[in-house]
Amino acid sequence: MHPSHRLLQTLHGINGKGYKAYKETKGVYDFADFSLSIDYVQGDPFAVPSHLSIQIPSSQAGFPPELYSNKIRKVALGDFLSRAFQKAIRKTAKGQRGTGHSGLFTIDCGQQEVLERNSLLISADFVEARFGVGLPASGRRILGLEAEQMLFHELPVIVDQALFYKNLPTEQLLEHVQVVEDQEALRKQLAEQGLVAFIANGSTLPRRSGVDDRPLREDAGEIVVPFQSPPQLEVRLNRPHQGPVRGMGIPRGVTLIVGGGFHGKSTILRALERGVYNHVVGDGRELAVTIPSAVKIRAEDGRSVEKVDISPFINNLPHGKNTAPFSTANASGSTSQAANIIEALEVGAKLLLIDEDTSATNFVIRDARMQALVEKKREPITPFVDKVGQLFEDYGTSTILVMGGSGDYFERADRIILLDQFRPSVVTEEAKQIVEVFPTRRKAEGGEKFGELIDRHPLAKSFDPSRGKRDVKIEAKGVQKILFGTTEVDLSALEQLVDVSQTRAIGEAIFYYTEHCASKGLSLKEGLQHLMDQLEENGLDMLTPFKTGNLALPRIFEIAFAINRMRSLRVR
Ligand code: ADP
Ligand code: MG
Repeated sequence: MHPSHRLLQTLHGINGKGYKAYKETKGVYDFADFSLSIDYVQGDPFAVPSHLSIQIPSSQAGFPPELYSNKIRKVALGDFLSRAFQKAIRKTAKGQRGTGHSGLFTIDCGQQEVLERNSLLISADFVEARFGVGLPASGRRILGLEAEQMLFHELPVIVDQALFYKNLPTEQLLEHVQVVEDQEALRKQLAEQGLVAFIANGSTLPRRSGVDDRPLREDAGEIVVPFQSPPQLEVRLNRPHQGPVRGMGIPRGVTLIVGGGFHGKSTILRALERGVYNHVVGDGRELAVTIPSAVKIRAEDGRSVEKVDISPFINNLPHGKNTAPFSTANASGSTSQAANIIEALEVGAKLLLIDEDTSATNFVIRDARMQALVEKKREPITPFVDKVGQLFEDYGTSTILVMGGSGDYFERADRIILLDQFRPSVVTEEAKQIVEVFPTRRKAEGGEKFGELIDRHPLAKSFDPSRGKRDVKIEAKGVQKILFGTTEVDLSALEQLVDVSQTRAIGEAIFYYTEHCASKGLSLKEGLQHLMDQLEENGLDMLTPFKTGNLALPRIFEIAFAINRMRSLRVR
């Protein structure tokens, strides 16, 4: 680089000075192949790294336009490039050089899921990458020459490797984009075919461990049983790029998954939960898709609930406590699960995914003997078994339920899938015969209809983003927690939230909701639908007043669930 380069001169000028002098580097600079923008400079070497971005004219980057000619391709290409950028960092950057984060490059990119993000954006004009840089220092003393190494020697190599079409593995790139678009297409066919989920034959569903979401490998002494559809449920769907594919289609209605312990029931359900997202090539679930409005429901005792009408499930609580609507700072297993369902329906859930492992027993079953001992007028709960059919008849919301422990659901199920050694078969007929031979004798409870669903209208005073001297302070603390002002929001029960960048976006989305929706008297659903429409149109950048590169798109459900879990929430 020419020694007269402005940034180079600044870096030489501030070399050895106190860290604050780095602020002088803010600005936009021309490099040979790209322009570099230093958007935000960190306050000290331990603080969140500085935000930098580079732009390359698309004509120079050289990506064939058909790789980004629609929304999903853009998302897939951006995903691939952010991963390539991260790989190039690992390969090229020297790493830590000084105190704290000094010397480190970071970029936000995905793991098994392919999400819409704002770390890598592609348009007809530019390819833009946004990344973090720990501007180097020794103690608080600026290491200007190390910064020169990073920005003038390492960065151009990283950019060269990751963001120019000619330097990328183009076959892999094409496959990535096609596989993602194919998943999107499979998901779209579900509704047309009357299905709520599809798992292709040959899919690998089990994961490496409870904390490692990559596919289970055979070489660790494990045997992996590839998924194979039972003949009765086998369907054929089409992929625009990679052709037709066969697998198990789960129709709308009530589906029961039964089988012995450790035979793979929860593994299937978890794959269905994640089937609302697209997956990377090699994940094993890239041909397992679920309708976008599928919601995992579980018990979550201890959560707060604000004016949710749970009367379809729960009535006549002790001391006449109201359930239409029901509020509590400390829900029980059953009341929390009931609230979770009603809140999911409120924002449009069309498929509930429920696992006995994470359910409240008295919410899902109540057998004939217990009915005889504890009469209905002394039991507030109408179990889900009496509501699951009505939910589909009255509202068109399907359920897939994992239930190895009770046969009381046999009558209610449209189909029953048995898992034996990880292999599914259809046992609906056998189960219906068993119903004849062993009648359950239990009485249906809770009336003929599911019950009314009522829209709630959150009050503006629920949302206070201020903390201390700051008017707005919103942070994600890992995937499962948001600090919104001084309100701590516990998201640990949201099993379909997969990425901390989604959590960050939810925090910002709640702020958007606060500013643009909460005082307009909209219902929660109307407000969030408006927010989602805006996001679809304008992208994640609309959520923040300054440029960020660490947001990923959440679903309307997870945003709604976060709002519902704010202990400050008050509704009209
Ligand atoms: P269940 O819910 O029926 O008790 P899980 O779904 O928890 O069973 O699965 C039990 C174990 O089997 C888990 O460790 C899981 O990773 C593993 N597993 C699940 N499906 C498969 C499969 N298709 N091949 C190999 N192992 C599997
Ligand atoms: Mg299980």
